Amino acid sequence: MANSEREKAVSWFSVEGGDGEIKSFEMRDIQWVEYKTLAQIRCDRYRLKSAVNRLLIGSRTFKCCRWKVPTQSVQVMHSAEYGKAFYAGLQVCASVWLCPVCAPKISERRRLELRGAMDEAQRQGLDVMLMTLTVPHGLGDDLDGMLDRMMKAYADTSSNRAGKNARKRVSLRGTVRVLEVTHGRNGWHPHFHVLLFLDGGMSPDQVKSILAPTWQDACEKRGLPRPSDEYGVDVRGGQDAAVYVSKWGLEHEMTKGHLKASRSAKGATPWALLAEYQETRSKRSAALWMAYAAAFKGRRQLCWSKGLRDLLAVVEMDDAEIAAQEDSAAVVLAELTDDQWRDVLTTHSEASLLQVAEENPSEVQAFLQGVAAMAKAMAIPVPVIEKAKPKARRKA
Ligand SMILES: [Zn+2]
Repeated sequence: MANSEREKAVSWFSVEGGDGEIKSFEMRDIQWVEYKTLAQIRCDRYRLKSAVNRLLIGSRTFKCCRWKVPTQSVQVMHSAEYGKAFYAGLQVCASVWLCPVCAPKISERRRLELRGAMDEAQRQGLDVMLMTLTVPHGLGDDLDGMLDRMMKAYADTSSNRAGKNARKRVSLRGTVRVLEVTHGRNGWHPHFHVLLFLDGGMSPDQVKSILAPTWQDACEKRGLPRPSDEYGVDVRGGQDAAVYVSKWGLEHEMTKGHLKASRSAKGATPWALLAEYQETRSKRSAALWMAYAAAFKGRRQLCWSKGLRDLLAVVEMDDAEIAAQEDSAAVVLAELTDDQWRDVLTTHSEASLLQVAEENPSEVQAFLQGVAAMAKAMAIPVPVIEKAKPKARRKA
């Protein structure tokens, strides 16, 4: 919903306790529901990014949105069409696993692709189902090793003879495989969600009974514990597939409110762990997130089976292309000197500057002057207040 349509919205913040954040609510049906403005969402992303900057010093993601592209200067751009401001001239990491700024941008595009694919499948009369594949897991599992074996097991289900036969029996036309992970009471829980595109005529239960054994056998062959009949494979119909796609990649925006809930039954997403570290500086969440980062970096999050993109007329674009994509009609609102950009980083004003550029473009220079003054003030050591000397003890 566009912000202009939020006529009945109210903002609220507590003057005591909490984190002083301003929250916005709107009336939906008969209740007030919290929503975030685009500026708040962006601010959350940069805040999470600053947590990554602490944990992965010197990495590509650390440099992302901070370091300049050599020989270019940092520019604040403004797109009149989308009413959005963004930076040009900065390095981008394009990491779907690690970067709270790049990942949502890539996910958004992927979500559109998946939606387009679902629509086209419907037009062609294909069935779409959502299959979830898991393996039994426990505390102390080696995440990296487990992932390696799961990836191989999944590959087996489409390449070995049993897998090929099973896929033929359910008239499978193609798959989109998504890798995800949560961390809960039983440790790491990596799992696959697979969108199945089928010729149709079968129920989800029938499809499950045919495909489940291929996953169970492949896991065993790759040295994983055998997934159970009850939990190892789950297949759901088109409605669930559509809901999954519509929410896909939005977990960044859900981290905060879902933090407590996610620590119980469902498990925490890596973004929730990162948000927890960002808020509490908890060593536990930092260690968990670092283990996740080491295990997932460089892995493919989303994989379309061969030929499916062509079948469903989806144009391929890689993560780096999406992350670097800019609105070509955008104009340069301000060009920053190196000192100005350093001041923006020192004062953590990256998100605020973009907000000013969107809401009051004529104030950008004044804002930058304020940022410079703030950075200067921050550089001055805080005067030490002398402690009151303890009173001399009375002699007994
Ligand atoms: Zn990035």
